Amino acid sequence: MRQCLTSPDGGYYTSRTEGRDQFGQKGDFVTSPEISQMFGELIGVWVVAEWMAQGRKSTGVYIMEVGPGRGTLMDDMLRTIRNFKPLASAIEAIYLVEASPSLRQAQHELLCGDAPLEETDIGFQSTSKYAPDLKIIWCEDVRFVPKDPSQTPFIVAHEFFDALPIHVFQSVAPSPHASTSPSQILTPTGPISNPAWQQQSQQQGNQWRELLVSPTAPPSAITTSSSTSASAVGDSKPEFELTLAKAATPHSLYLPETSDRYKALKGTEGATIEISPEALSYAADFAVRIGGSASQTPTSSPTSPTQPASTYRNRAPIPVAFSKPAPSGAALILDYGPTATIPTNSLRGIRAHAAVSPFAAPGAVDLSTDVDFMALALAALDASPAVEVHGPAEQAAWLAGMGIGERAAQLVKRALERDRGMPAGGEGQQREKEGGGAKADLTETVKRIETGWKRLVDRGPNGMGRLYKVMAIVPYVPLEKGKPRRRPVGFGGDVAG
Ligand code: SAH
Repeated sequence: MRQCLTSPDGGYYTSRTEGRDQFGQKGDFVTSPEISQMFGELIGVWVVAEWMAQGRKSTGVYIMEVGPGRGTLMDDMLRTIRNFKPLASAIEAIYLVEASPSLRQAQHELLCGDAPLEETDIGFQSTSKYAPDLKIIWCEDVRFVPKDPSQTPFIVAHEFFDALPIHVFQSVAPSPHASTSPSQILTPTGPISNPAWQQQSQQQGNQWRELLVSPTAPPSAITTSSSTSASAVGDSKPEFELTLAKAATPHSLYLPETSDRYKALKGTEGATIEISPEALSYAADFAVRIGGSASQTPTSSPTSPTQPASTYRNRAPIPVAFSKPAPSGAALILDYGPTATIPTNSLRGIRAHAAVSPFAAPGAVDLSTDVDFMALALAALDASPAVEVHGPAEQAAWLAGMGIGERAAQLVKRALERDRGMPAGGEGQQREKEGGGAKADLTETVKRIETGWKRLVDRGPNGMGRLYKVMAIVPYVPLEKGKPRRRPVGFGGDVAG
């Protein structure tokens, strides 16, 4: 998945040919910020509300977005935040974590206009078109974004986690006819014997086996599993398929043993689970930036007797001590996936707005998986004792709580006022994206506002309002006797005055 999406040589996001765009009607998929400006605006409002609830810090605030796509969401957020002067002037930098040079360029054009893009030691840098003193900084990985205990991060991840690579494991019953000795494990360079695992592998009961991407075998020799259903989608037979490893792999011995949620399924033959160590690592990083790390002494990475610690460097929690005396900031994760269950068989390919085999045309097809929100929540709580998690809430409920209906009505009203030649009311500073064109555009504008809004909150079986979830990581606030728990806006809370 990593190679197909972000390899510098032929990755889906990282090797764009001129003029080709992944996003929009002519591309492969349309994301919520591209559907309506209201999406990014309401995320901006959420950041403002959290900043207010946390005591309106006047310095040291930064905003970080991971996987910013075309930059549309950040542009809509910044246009909104600009109206809240005390927050706007507290923001010291905007960090964008982006693996793709061509998308970085698109983001730069949208967010910075003519301001030059300069290379720095952590990535690239320019300035906001809204405020020449506001730095916009690009990094390829979140690990390059500086961590400072005095700073307050507001972090947004929209449709980022679904692009992070997963490992897939299936529970298999012990077989007396195993072609590999039970004390052997499969590694990329071939099977190796490891006496340390002999005891475990001789234990009775099911074992986890990894599903690996392999070149498609001739029909007679295919070792299929139930999860190969994904490869059945698409027109011609793909070059690759998922096959069940014949013996344990380093990951199958380790990753499914890291949580009771996985262990509970081990006894169910055929149970298939997806784990993304990189996703857990990102969630842990967000939590640590907000609340500081769980341990004040550096802890070593979890290890397996067969592999050096570095093999598991992507697993949460991040083994770096980071003390934060006053937890502050927030992270908002928006993506698709189940509310509490572990994703299974969710790897999919998307091309030209249609589902295709994830194994067809590697690098030319977008790949994504369902996000395991519960795993992200647990990784965040594990990484920092000073955070709490709210949600995941359905996108429809979250957007409704954030006032999308009211914002849509306001945009329609302004479009009508402009059409009648009246000055637009409300917050004068706000530059509207919608409307402003010729009279003939009015019907079109109103239609776009309304269809965009309805699409984002659609709760039909495949509607975005139901499939997409929203989850927040915020500083932990101990319960005060007799007082209700503080809840962020959109998760049941009100805006603090
Ligand atoms: N948030 C945007 C784009 C979603 S597409 C929107 O909603 O429109 C996924 C984005 O994540 C792209 O910008 C892609 O280049 C970036 N991305 C994917 N994998 C990444 C990785 N491993 N590291 C950094 N960026 C990544």
